[in-house]
Amino acid sequence: MLWLNDQAGVAPMPPRPQAADIESARTRLQRCQGLLARLFPDLSACGGVIASPLLPLAKLQQAQGGDAAREGAWLLKADHALPVAGSIKARGGFHEVLALAEELALRHGLLDAAGDRAALAEPAARACFSQYTVMVGSTGNLGMSIGLIAAALGFRAVVHMSVEAKAWKKDRLRRHGVQVIEHAGDYAQAVAAGRAAAAADPATHFVDDEQSLALFLGYAAAARELAEQLRAAGRAVDAERPLFVYLPCGVGGAPGGIAFGLKALYGEHVHCFFAEPAASPCMLVQLATGAAAPVSVYDIGLDNRTEADGLAVGLASPLASPLMARLLSGVFTVEDAQLFTGLLQLFETEGIALEPSAAAGLPGPDWICRSAAGRAYLDLHGLAGRLGSATHVIWSTGGSLVPEAEHERFRAEGRRLRDRQAQ
Ligand SMILES: *Cc1c(COP(=O)(O)O)cnc(C)c1O
Repeated sequence: MLWLNDQAGVAPMPPRPQAADIESARTRLQRCQGLLARLFPDLSACGGVIASPLLPLAKLQQAQGGDAAREGAWLLKADHALPVAGSIKARGGFHEVLALAEELALRHGLLDAAGDRAALAEPAARACFSQYTVMVGSTGNLGMSIGLIAAALGFRAVVHMSVEAKAWKKDRLRRHGVQVIEHAGDYAQAVAAGRAAAAADPATHFVDDEQSLALFLGYAAAARELAEQLRAAGRAVDAERPLFVYLPCGVGGAPGGIAFGLKALYGEHVHCFFAEPAASPCMLVQLATGAAAPVSVYDIGLDNRTEADGLAVGLASPLASPLMARLLSGVFTVEDAQLFTGLLQLFETEGIALEPSAAAGLPGPDWICRSAAGRAYLDLHGLAGRLGSATHVIWSTGGSLVPEAEHERFRAEGRRLRDRQAQ
């Protein structure tokens, strides 16, 4: 379904965070570029800039029977290709651990406020960081992002995972010196175990996917990056030329941060939609009930079982959801079969390989341009006649670290499902 948020622009705006907070996150990432280039060989060529390309999707659009003259241009914001961590989690995760490293170095007199952050790769800083633990609970991409940067800075890095988490992810983390602790239960139990262990130790920093402002603001900094790329591509955003953005949503921090950043830049001219698995639409459930108290997908009889492991979240972030009540245009849900046929079609038309979670945004333009609910949204906002000058940005969120054999499996599943549909 496509659910439209009738509280957009109406629900009260929480006092924090503010637009200025996004700028300070962006400035932090900029002043740490020299440090990142020293820590990661992958980042030395690009000078430590954590950024992803904005790619045309003209072939995919054509394959779906659309054309830019009628429905606007489709683009892919390729966060699946973000360096080092291979997913959108590089943005929030790196920002939070860099903020922690700066704070500790300032407190221990290893850095002054204006000092060059590259000093944080020196032995004195590493010796200091080795006294601290950075901990996170994650089944995958967040653990990868936090674990890799924390270990690279010299922190003790601990990632709590469920036993079902993919073996190649655990292996990769262990190869980089990250301690992986496996739990018999699910994601929520891994997070709870990490949170409890961290609470008992003042030298442990727990990265809290559900509550962390530093994570959220790291994601929000992506908005200005996209704005610069749109400007460079000659795609203006204004009343005549609306921007639609389609973001896969798990707990809501990554897409929520980006939506918050884009709204701060473009206001009513940007229309942000989340994509959630049909079995795990936690943000939809939270916003649609309009309740201040948490409501989970289990509360309405859904089972939270999906192949989109990055999006399999039962309860939305209490930090992101009140902001999204105000800022989000709507949410569409995606069946697992669509994730696999979608990633197959993207690969066949554009040669781009995504993990299933990252393919959730692909049906976005179709919902807006061609469904009854989409047309209702366009009519309500006076946009029906402006579609030809619109820009649609589909945010791809992960996949470049996934082993090729796994990608082959995803595509085989896509072929199987497509053949079945054709019968
Ligand atoms: C984490 C993740 C998301 C969603 O981010 P949340 O902050 O959980 O909403 C989307 N796609 C991928 C691949 C992810 O790893």
